[in-house]
Amino acid sequence: MAEENLVQPDLAFIKGVMDAGGDTLNCCYQCATCSVVCPLSTPESPFPRKEMLWAQWGLGSKLAGDADVWMCHNCGDCTKYCPRGARPGDVLSAIRINAIRYYARPKALANILNSTGGVISTVITAMFAVLVTAFLWSRYTGQAFPIPKGTVVYHKFLTVVPIDIVFLSLAAFVSYVSLKGIIEFWGDISRGAGLPTSFNGHAVTPAWSELFPKYMWPAIKEILSHERFKKCGEIKERATGHIWVLWSFIILFTVTIVVMIQADILGNIWPNAGFETPLVWYHPIKIAANIGAIMIIGGTWMLMNMRRKKTAEGIMKSSTQDWILIGIIFAVGISGAATEIIRLINIPVLAYPTYVLHLGCVATLFLALPYSKFAHLLYRGTAYVYQHWAEDVKAGKAGFGLEKPTTREKM
Ligand code: SF4
Ligand code: SF4
Repeated sequence: MAEENLVQPDLAFIKGVMDAGGDTLNCCYQCATCSVVCPLSTPESPFPRKEMLWAQWGLGSKLAGDADVWMCHNCGDCTKYCPRGARPGDVLSAIRINAIRYYARPKALANILNSTGGVISTVITAMFAVLVTAFLWSRYTGQAFPIPKGTVVYHKFLTVVPIDIVFLSLAAFVSYVSLKGIIEFWGDISRGAGLPTSFNGHAVTPAWSELFPKYMWPAIKEILSHERFKKCGEIKERATGHIWVLWSFIILFTVTIVVMIQADILGNIWPNAGFETPLVWYHPIKIAANIGAIMIIGGTWMLMNMRRKKTAEGIMKSSTQDWILIGIIFAVGISGAATEIIRLINIPVLAYPTYVLHLGCVATLFLALPYSKFAHLLYRGTAYVYQHWAEDVKAGKAGFGLEKPTTREKM
């Protein structure tokens, strides 16, 4: 047999999968029951049996570029019926964690943001960064670093500019790393599916004019409605907690952007026009923010309870990475609610440290996007877009971006 045809197992990958909750991997004897019972597997692209085999063989890079890994929503149906107790749902979850690490740059940040100690250190570092930036800003503007007295008003303690500097820098970094990972993932899934990874020197993507309306929008709709999630049997209720958390992010992100424009930009141009924070409780933005806060806390609470219950029933196991992500999101919700409650009862000595803690938690969650389990938002979304597009390409209904080939023969 030619040497290039021999399987070269990536032992570090196998260990990574086992450490991330896939320790039952080697129990699989390839009966394919899991692929038959999976409510999300399709005849054209069945899973998770092949993923179990590839993982046993240690084909880490092949699995990193396997879009089907991201079609699994860890519903546990296959785990329930597996005759060997191989827990394919948990193994796929562990494979996803390893795929995220595979695309993470720099990898050191993935290691930090996937350990409890690393996350706590990141929160403290982010709190420190906000305070140092605020101090440097006060030096630059020649104003004394404000130690507020009287009624709690957060922007008198930390003016908006230093906070914006920290968060906009973070946003630029996270966007760059996320985009880089998505592009690399796209190339790998194209290669894995036998599609060309470049055409006339360009990356092979949907035509730009079709990308959003034809492929991204249907994927976004599926994600917002949790259409596939709802097909799961054993852990159906997980969709509710998940959807609450997702919508809370959308609400809170929108509110933050609106407040940033209103208070940080318009408020600076017209200081006495009533744009400053805090907003009164009946302001629509404030009401939306409070609904978002309730949803983020309620959603994570549901997810925590579901995980405990399903673990006790033997349907799923939860890895450290699962709990870390839930923990960060919960910390963002609780610290945000505490920030508001303590402001309302006006205890300055507690309010300002809580506010800085909340900013540290938000910054950590933000940074965790491309490095932790949170990245499933990026890669599952990309896999959905890819799946819609690849179906059209295979059916000869879609071409490639930038310059379209005329026929499928160019593939
Ligand atoms: S994971 Fe279980 S159900 Fe799936 S192929 Fe292996 S032994 Fe069969
Ligand atoms: S956990 Fe659910 S979605 Fe994932 S492979 Fe098993 S049955 Fe399919």
